[in-house]
Amino acid sequence: MNHTVNPQAVYQNHELWMYAGSQTLYGPEVLKQVEKNASQIAGALSETPAIPMAVRWKGVLTSPEAISAALAEAGTDGRCAGVIVWMHTFSPAKMWIAGLSRFSKPLLHFHTQFNRDIPWDSIDMDFMNLNQTAHGGREFGFIATRLGVRRKVVVGHWQDQRALEQIGAWSRAAAAWADQQGARIVRFGDNMRYVAVTEGNKVEAELALGYMVNGYGVGDLVERVDAVSDAEINRLVGEYEEAYQVVPELKRGGARHEALRYSARLELGMCAFLEEVGAVGFSDSFECLTGLDQLPGMAVQRLMADGYGFGGEGDWKTAALVRAMKVMAAGLPGGTSFMEDYTYHFEPGRERVLGAHMLEICPTIASGTPRIEIHPLGIGGKSDPVRMVFDTPAGPAVNASIVDLGNRMRLIVNEVDTVPPDADLPKLPVARTVWIPRPDLAVAAAAWIYAGGAHHTGFSHAITTEVLEDYAEIAGMELVVIDARTETRSLRESLRWNELYWRLQKGLV
Ligand code: MN
Repeated sequence: MNHTVNPQAVYQNHELWMYAGSQTLYGPEVLKQVEKNASQIAGALSETPAIPMAVRWKGVLTSPEAISAALAEAGTDGRCAGVIVWMHTFSPAKMWIAGLSRFSKPLLHFHTQFNRDIPWDSIDMDFMNLNQTAHGGREFGFIATRLGVRRKVVVGHWQDQRALEQIGAWSRAAAAWADQQGARIVRFGDNMRYVAVTEGNKVEAELALGYMVNGYGVGDLVERVDAVSDAEINRLVGEYEEAYQVVPELKRGGARHEALRYSARLELGMCAFLEEVGAVGFSDSFECLTGLDQLPGMAVQRLMADGYGFGGEGDWKTAALVRAMKVMAAGLPGGTSFMEDYTYHFEPGRERVLGAHMLEICPTIASGTPRIEIHPLGIGGKSDPVRMVFDTPAGPAVNASIVDLGNRMRLIVNEVDTVPPDADLPKLPVARTVWIPRPDLAVAAAAWIYAGGAHHTGFSHAITTEVLEDYAEIAGMELVVIDARTETRSLRESLRWNELYWRLQKGLV
C-alpha cells in the first residue's frame, strides 16, 4: 500500500473551518453566547461519525474586515478543505460581499438553530434576538445568490441525523476536490486510436477541475519495470498466494508461474513510477505497450485497490473521476472501481446490464476472495495477461461519467442496483458485475446516450448521488442525474435548457 495515495489520508490532512456570522449591534453578552453555542455545534460536527473530516471552530465574524480576513485565510490555508457558515443572529450581508466574492473553496451554509424547539412558555424578545437564524440565514442567502456563490444549503437542527449526513456528503465531495487540486494523472501512451469519448481538453480539465494530465513514454515505464528485483517479486508473489485464490498453473512450481511473476513485476514497476511522479491516477492503452510483455491486468486492479484512479484506453477523465470517487468513498462500506457497460440482457421484464472491462476492475467491489487466473486477451498481441476474477455483491450503486462537450465538462450519474448473475459464468474470465439501472434499462440507457455519457464510468457501491451532486456544485460542472424519477421527454428538454444555460453561464456570473 502506497500511503500517500491512501484515500483516508486526504481526511487526515484536511479540516473544515466553521464560522458564525453576527454583528456588534447586540452587545458583548449576546456575542459571547453566540460564540459558546456555535463552538459547541462545531464540536458536535467534528465528533459525529456522519462527517468524516474534522471541523474546526474559527470564531464569530462581526465586520467586513474580519469576514474578508477569515475567508482569505481559509482560501489560502492548505489544510482547509471548505468552510461552513452559520448565521446564529442577523449578519448584515453587505459585510460579506468582499470576502465571498474572492472566496473559491467549497462553502456550506448551515441553516440551523441552537435550540430545537421554541420554548413556548418562556420565550421573550431576548430569546428571539439571540435565535434569528430563520431570517439571518435568508439575508446571507440573498447575498450568496446575488453574487452567484456556489454552495450547499443544509437546513435542520444540528443534532438531526439527516442534516449531519448532508454535511457529511458535502465533506466527502470537498475532500475529493481538495485532493484533486494540483493532482497528477499519468498517461502511459495515448488514447485508443479513433476513439472519441475518451478524448478531452487537458487544459480545460486543469482549469475547471484542478488536476494535471501528463503523458509519459511507455519506454520510461519499461525501464522501471525491468529494474524490479527478484527479491521484491518473491515477496509480492507470496502476498498474492496468501491473499487470493491463485490457480495452480500460476502458483510457484506451476507451468505458468513466470506469468504471475511478470504481473508482480508490472505492479511494482508501475507503482514505483507513479510514486516518483507523485500521481494519484493513471491510464494506459493496449495499443501502446511496446516493451511490456503483458497488458497490465492484475497490476492495475491492485493499484486501484490502493486508491489510484484508473481509466482504460487512455481515458484520463475517468481515471481522475475514479480517484475522486475513491476519496469520496473513504471509510464507507462497499467498493469503487473503473467500469464499462459491456453487454445487455434484454429478457422482457428482466432487462439488465453486465458491467466489466477487459481486465481492469477493482477488487474493492469483489464479493468473496478474488481468483487469480490467466487467459488469452484476443487483442493487443501480447502474452496472456494475469487478472483477478470475481463477482460483486448486490445493492444500490452509482455509475458516473465525465464527458468533454467542447465548451464544458458534464457529469452524468445513473443510480443502479447490482444483482447476482443468473448463473455462474464459468467461461467469462474477467471480474464482472450485473446491475439494473434506474428507472429501467430502456429509459436509463436512452437518457445516458442522449446526455452523451461514456461507456467508461466510475462505479461505486459506497457513495450516493448526493456526494456527486455536491462535487458538481463545488466544481461548477453541469450535472445530469438519471434515477428512479427520470422520464425521457423531460430529460431531453432539460438537456436543451442546459445547453443554453451552460453556453451563457460564463457571461452571467
Ligand atoms: Mn474500455
